[in-house]
Amino acid sequence: MKEKQSETEKIQEKFSKIKQKIVVLSGKGGVGKSTVSTNLAVGLSLKSYKVGLLDVDLHGPNVPNMLGLKNTSPKITPEGIYPVEYSENLKVISIGFFAKDEDAIIWRGPLKHKAIQQFLTDTIWGELDFLIADCPPGTGDEILSIYHVLSKVDGAIIVATPQNVALADVKRSIRFCQETKIPIIGIVENMSGFVCPKCGTQIDIFKTNGARNLAKKYNIPFLGKIPIEPTLVQAEDEGKPYVKYYPESETAKAFFQIIENLENQLMK
Ligand code: ADP
Repeated sequence: MKEKQSETEKIQEKFSKIKQKIVVLSGKGGVGKSTVSTNLAVGLSLKSYKVGLLDVDLHGPNVPNMLGLKNTSPKITPEGIYPVEYSENLKVISIGFFAKDEDAIIWRGPLKHKAIQQFLTDTIWGELDFLIADCPPGTGDEILSIYHVLSKVDGAIIVATPQNVALADVKRSIRFCQETKIPIIGIVENMSGFVCPKCGTQIDIFKTNGARNLAKKYNIPFLGKIPIEPTLVQAEDEGKPYVKYYPESETAKAFFQIIENLENQLMK
């Protein structure tokens, strides 16, 4: 018991050097959770915050690819794992660094919790302003494991697309946060409308503003929307985060607006 307590204290002490621990959640996969996590982390680091990006999406750890760090490995020492330094202000750790894509790992129940626990507790972050955790999709036990190991989190950002905002899975994410008492920082609507690259006209391919309405209904802040950006997929494949490589684009501006709204929410 005593041993267990000191282990818990050790973990708490480790995470106490992180000012804001934020989990990025989505009701299902493929809505842009990793895209949002990566661009928020890079964007915050460009604003001179010290940021850690934790990719704990066991089933699709895409962050190393999105940052062009596919062939990089973190330093493993007897004291723990040192995250990869993407830049002076941004450290990154991903399950993907340990499971190269040719190894299809199948995570089973109790192993999942153990893997998450070890991965999270062994990482040495040092002092951070923000830790952004790209979580597995859904509302399963994996997120609860992350929540417990991080010794509570400061807030959650929920990513939704216009097609799924009305669907049960977004509402489930909201209810999950309410039940587990994770404060919801806000909702981001991704793939919201399309800006024609030729004439600049916004075309709403799918209905937009669903997330804004949902946020209003549940009394949750709406952080903003990101348009469908045809070149984003290629940029991610090339490991070029949009906010860094295309800062003048409408999409990067939308990310920076979300960051500003996030800062304002956290100051409240
Ligand atoms: P998730 O983490 O929710 O599974 P990803 O961030 O991996 O989702 O995104 C899924 C796919 O959609 C990726 O190929 C990504 O490049 C693409 N994508 C994400 N957001 C946008 C967007 N706003 N415009 C165009 N493509 C996008």
